[in-house]
Formats: sequence, C-alpha cells, structure tokens
Amino acid sequence: MKGTERRKAILDWLDQERTLSLAQIVERFKISKMTVHRDLDALELRSALKRIHGGVVAIERSSGLASSPQGGTGQGNCVVCFRPASQHLLYSLTLNNGEQRVACCPHCGVSAHLVLGDQVAMALTADYLTGRPHPARGSYFVLGSAATPCCRPSMLTFEDIEMARRFQTGFGGSVGQLEDAIKYLQEEMSLHRDGENCPHCAAMARRE
Ligand SMILES: [Zn+2]
Ligand SMILES: [Zn+2]
Repeated sequence: MKGTERRKAILDWLDQERTLSLAQIVERFKISKMTVHRDLDALELRSALKRIHGGVVAIERSSGLASSPQGGTGQGNCVVCFRPASQHLLYSLTLNNGEQRVACCPHCGVSAHLVLGDQVAMALTADYLTGRPHPARGSYFVLGSAATPCCRPSMLTFEDIEMARRFQTGFGGSVGQLEDAIKYLQEEMSLHRDGENCPHCAAMARRE
C-alpha cells in the first residue's frame, strides 16, 4: 500500500472509531512506528486529525453529530446507560484488543473502567469547556458538583487544573484525578447498591 493510500485508509478508519492508538495502526498496516509517526505528522499538518499521547483522535467536522438521531454511526451510545454520547462529555475507552467503547460522560466512563478493569488500554475524556479530548489519566475531575448535565453524581473533566478549580468554586464538589474518581464512584455505588433508578448501578447489576 502506498503512503497516500495508507493515510487515506487511516483517516477512514479514524472516522469510524474516533480514536486510535499508535499500536492499533502499527498492527493493522504492518508498518514501523517511525512510519506511523510520519503519516500522523503529515495528517495533523493538514488538520485532518489531532495527535495525543499514544494515539490520535478525530477532529469534529460537523457539530450536529452528537445530537443527530442516527448518532449510532458516529460517536454512538453510552456503553453503560445507552444515552447518546455528546462531544463535551464524551469519554472513550480503547481496550487491549483494539475495540472501542464510548460513554456518555466521565461518570459512565469511570463506571466502565470499574467494569473493564485491566482490559482498558487507553481512555480519553473531553474537556467540559472546550470539548477537546485528552487522556483521562492526567485529567482533572470535578466530582459531585451541582452541575449535572448528564449522569448523577456529576463527574466532569478538565484538561487544566485551574479551570477545574474555577468550576469547583462556582459549582462545588471536589477536584481529583482518575484514581479519586474511581474511588468516589466505588463509594457512591456501595451507598446505593440496589439503586435501580441509577443507570450505572443497573448496568452493573445486569453484568453480575
Ligand atoms: Zn452513560
Ligand atoms: Zn452520562
């Protein structure tokens, strides 16, 4: 496969998956890491995608994607509660076998971490203010604030700790990182173990 064809193939694939890890691209095209880096550099220069640590994410071309009724072909529905995922709250997980899972918000994303455990190779979460995806490890989580755009208890993620703190000043809650969010959710879940009206508890119960 020629370089130009391969770059086009990478873009088509990324269009479906929304995020890809470097390892996935190496594996699929049987090319060296160096070649992947060169391809991705070239594509990023054309603003065709955005590189992140360990992978790439698709750039949103239309804003209507998340709210369109046939959203299943784009970002898809939440793996935990089946709500449609929207860009500013999107949390996506790449599993060790290369499969993708999306969650409607960091709350469900962290629930998915709890369920999938070591199968998670990489997770991306959107910055609540800009919608920009960035690695969940290293993101700042505002936990249990009064702002609940999606699931309860609220969990929102910020790329920048300063923004997370400002948000916390206005809406309350606590600021932490991924480990804190996981702990927080575990505690919440043990509080209402059989809360049937809680989507993530219900989803967990179904898996057991
Ligand atoms: Zn959800
Ligand atoms: Zn949600």
